[in-house]
This record gives sequence, structure tokens and C-alpha cells, in this order.
Amino acid sequence: MNVHQNFIAGQWTNSAEAADNINPSNTRDVVGVYARGSRQDAEAAIAAAKQASMSWSRSSIQLRHDILQKVSTELLARREELGRLLAREEGKTLGEAIGEVVRAGQIFGFFAGETLRLSGEKLPSVRPGVEVDITREPVGVVGIITPWNFPIAIPAWKIAPALAYGNCVVFKPADLVPGSAWALADIIIRSGIPDGVFNLVMGRGSVVGDAFLTSPDVDAISFTGSVTTGKKVAASSVEHMRKFQLELGGKNPLVILDDADLQTAVECAANGAFFSTGQRCTASSRLIVTDKIHDSFVEALKARLSKLVVDDSLKDGTHIGPVVDQNQLDQDLSYIAIGKDEGAKLAWGGSRLERGTPGYYLEPALFTETTPQMRINREEIFGPVASIIRVKDYDEALALANDTEFGLTAGICTTSLKHASHYKRNAESGMVMVNLPTAGVDYHVPFGGRKGSSYGPREQGRYAVEFYTTVKTSYTLP
Ligand code: NAD
Repeated sequence: MNVHQNFIAGQWTNSAEAADNINPSNTRDVVGVYARGSRQDAEAAIAAAKQASMSWSRSSIQLRHDILQKVSTELLARREELGRLLAREEGKTLGEAIGEVVRAGQIFGFFAGETLRLSGEKLPSVRPGVEVDITREPVGVVGIITPWNFPIAIPAWKIAPALAYGNCVVFKPADLVPGSAWALADIIIRSGIPDGVFNLVMGRGSVVGDAFLTSPDVDAISFTGSVTTGKKVAASSVEHMRKFQLELGGKNPLVILDDADLQTAVECAANGAFFSTGQRCTASSRLIVTDKIHDSFVEALKARLSKLVVDDSLKDGTHIGPVVDQNQLDQDLSYIAIGKDEGAKLAWGGSRLERGTPGYYLEPALFTETTPQMRINREEIFGPVASIIRVKDYDEALALANDTEFGLTAGICTTSLKHASHYKRNAESGMVMVNLPTAGVDYHVPFGGRKGSSYGPREQGRYAVEFYTTVKTSYTLP
């Protein structure tokens, strides 16, 4: 098989190492072979980006608009093919994967428009005759490091604003899923982008990612991934006095009140907790349910889970694909064992499944009779595992929803306007969903969390300008 190369300083570039990209639905299926870059590759990419930065930062906004628009158009036109690649390498269902490619296309389209809308301010000075201008300028070289669970949408929502606002990019996708990232890079490269402005360096976090972190020439890092790696990004960024932005884990609550519409609550829980195999930072892993609806909700959710088909991500009729790899599967199974040991009742699923092909299939797992202090209710599992915590009323539900070190999303199912409004104001999270799954967001509005889930300015929508630009104040005496 041909090795998919890295793209550095305007050239497709060989690397000393390469790795197979394995389909988690069928581990006999090699999706492709992808370069594993070295520290030197990363350093060459950073140097190229730095060199290109002066000219790109002053490039015409029409050129940037046209490039981003072209990327958007191609992504949308190739949604089926790229969705198939994404489902094959990551394991989410084909429908979800096509949706993710469409999302990436929409994001590039949105930021194509934003290139034409960058604005500043002109103010009078407190000193007579002096004028004050406030303008936004690119930050410089942006290092982008992404996780495996959204292999094209997360890169898109970082790369598109970085380029739109005149930054050069060094991009390191997750080593587990380089295929969609490589395809996106190929589209960006063919869009007419000047040499050095966009560089792809696939490879290990400890090698390529670390080279980004330790380079004095990377002016900003946008990172999405685990808390452990996020802390390394933070520490190294402080050391270099560079801008950084972190999107990390979640332990998102979905509160279900007695007055909720039962069917809405069940759909929100099934979707939020288990779709995309529960591998979403916005997944609802804690279902906090008030006393009177508790038993009927558990029965209805179990009935819903019994209808979910776990199988090959590309098969028609599959609702839940495999877990992404053996490590993640081991982690999920170990948390299921921990939950049982802690005294939670495994009310549904949790078994390893055999299907027609060798893959990492796991039945969705639902725990009941759990307590807030159990590890399964405190630590991010990142798999199709959710637990129910029974509470007496709304006040207790809200207190428990906030009793976590994370704060990405928080959901509530209720028909009470009073409780919905109170929850929107008091949930300690960056995003709140009422009668909707905790996962599933729009692309034109801010995305991000509080507490241990996020650090730095929000991503997406026009709020992205905060991270990808720096403000300059100029004084003039004409
Ligand atoms: P991870 O931290 O292991 O890896 C993320 C990226 O960092 C990968 O590209 C990896 O290669 C790189 N990396 C690893 N070690 C590094 C190092 N020492 N220096 C620099 N880079 C390094 O995370 P993951 O397992 O890929 O992703 C799962 C995590 O991502 C979960 O915790 C999930 O909640 C989180 N996530 C958060 C969001 C969000 O928006 N909040 C979205 C998706 C995923």
C-alpha cells in the first residue's frame, strides 16, 4: 500500500516511519498506511509556517475567503465518500460520519464568510486631536492538536478560523485516525493555499505533539483531548508565554424531572449517552432522575436500548458502531467491572459482543442504583456506559449536576418553564440543553465548557476570533 505522506513546507514529504490505520469494525481491514512524522519533521513544518507567516498575515481577505469556500464546497460534494472513510477508521455509524463531514464543510463555509467580516473600532481619544484604532491581527503560527473521536469536525473548527484570520497552521491529528485528517489536508492543499501556510504532521503525540509544545516558534496552541495531555499543553505554553486553548473531558449530567415527557427523556438519554458509542466529550454519562419518574424511565430506557443494533459501522441498520480500539475497550470494560465492584446494579448490557468480523463491539451498559461518589459517576469513561442517580427533587438534581470537576454540557428534561429557566442560569457548564441531548451542537455559536472541561476562549462561531487574533491599539496624532 502507498504511504500517505505528511505535507511540510509545500511538499508531500516522506517520513522514516509509517503505521497502519485499522478499521475497528474489522481489525483485518487496513484503511491505509500513514506516515509517522519525527521531531525533525515537526520542526521543519514549524519553520515553514514561521517563514510563510509574514506574507499570509497580510494576504487579501478575498484570497482567504476563496480558499476556505473551495474547501467547504469540496467537503460537501464528497460527503458520502469521506463519511465512509471516517466511519471505517473511527467506528461511528455511516450516518453520523456523513453528518460530521457535512459539519466540517459548513464550518469552512462559515469561516469563509467571517474572513470578510473582521472588524475593528475607531474611537476618539481622551487627548484632544488624537485618534485611537483598535484592530485585530493574526497570532502567527498556530499548533493544532486533535483527538480521535471527531477526526474531521474538530480539525475543521480549529483550522478554518486559524486560516481565516491570517495564521499559519501546523496540524497534528490523532495517530489513531489519520485518514480523515489526511483527506482534509489534501483538500486544503489543492485549494490554492501558499506553501508553508498549512502543514500536516501526522505522528505520535509524544514526538510530533511534544515538538509543537517545546518550540519557541509556535505562537498559539489549540488542543482538544484528555486532561492529562491538556495539562502538558498548559504547562509548556506558560513556559513559552504563548496563547493556548484547551477542550478536555466531560462528565455531563442529564437531569430528568418527574414532569418530563417520558419519550423525550428516553430519546435524549439514549442519544446523549450511547450514540457515537458514547465517545463524545459531550456525552451524558450521568442520568440524574427524580423519584416519581425513576422506575418508568429505567424501564423505558431499557426497552429503547434493547432495540439498538451494535454492529459494523458501515452496515445498514447499525445504531452503534464499535469502540475505537483495544485500549479504549479495555478502559470501558474495566469501568464496568469497577461499577459492579462499587455496588452499582448493571441493569442493562455491558458485555463484549461478537459480530461477523473481528471488531471492538461492546453492548451499551446502563447502571442503576449508583451513588454520586462512585468512580463511574466521577471519572470520564468515554464509552457506551451511563449511570442513573436517583434523587428526590429538582434541588438535589441541580446540586448533583454541578458536583463534578467538569463543566462542558448539562441537560435537563422537563415541561416546567420555571425549572428549565433556573437550570439554564445555575448549571455550571459552558452549554445547557433543555429537552435535547447533551451532545449535538450548532456550528455558528460558541462551543466550550467551564471548570476542568475547558480553558481559554471559546471555539466556533464568531467567538473563535478571540483565540485566533490578537488585539492592537494604535494612537495617531494626524
Ligand atoms: P489524548 O490527550 O490522548 O490525545 C489528544 C491529542 O494529543 C492526540 O493528537 C495525541 O496524539 C496528542 N498528544 C498525546 N500526548 C501528547 C503530548 N505529550 N504532547 C502533545 N500532544 C500529545 O486524547 P484522546 O484520547 O485522543 O481523546 C479523548 C479525549 O478527548 C477525551 O478526554 C475527550 O473528552 C476529549 N475530547 C474533548 C472534546 C471537547 O471539545 N471538550 C472533544 C472531543 C474529545
